Amino acid sequence: MPPFYECQRCTACCRWPGDVRLLEDEITRIAAFLDLSEEDFIQRYTRINHHRSGLSLTEQPDGSCVFLEGVDCRIQPVKPQQCRDFPNLWNFPGFENVCRAVPRDVTIEEFKSKVQVANQSFFRR
Ligand code: SF4
Repeated sequence: MPPFYECQRCTACCRWPGDVRLLEDEITRIAAFLDLSEEDFIQRYTRINHHRSGLSLTEQPDGSCVFLEGVDCRIQPVKPQQCRDFPNLWNFPGFENVCRAVPRDVTIEEFKSKVQVANQSFFRR
């Protein structure tokens, strides 16, 4: 059983380069959260992703996510699934060198429940 990584909110993953892909329902949810029409949200905060297969969030001039404010995510309750799932449901070789999440040994049930808790607050909205 792999450990469950507890995020320490260091925001490193909000600052490294790459696409934060958006699914259609995420566009709807984030636009509503920001009180914007989907069209306005797309115009203001998205770009074509690097594979030219969909939309991703734009970046600030320093490369950090457009919604990172200090150490807070402006759209935390509705942030994209890609952000939500890292590093427990996807990661990359050597991610531990840049991510400060703390590994905890858990049972498979605990792992599922912790992942579910992260998603419940998301789907309640
Ligand atoms: S890099 Fe790791 S510890 Fe830091 S905010 Fe992202 S998931 Fe959390």
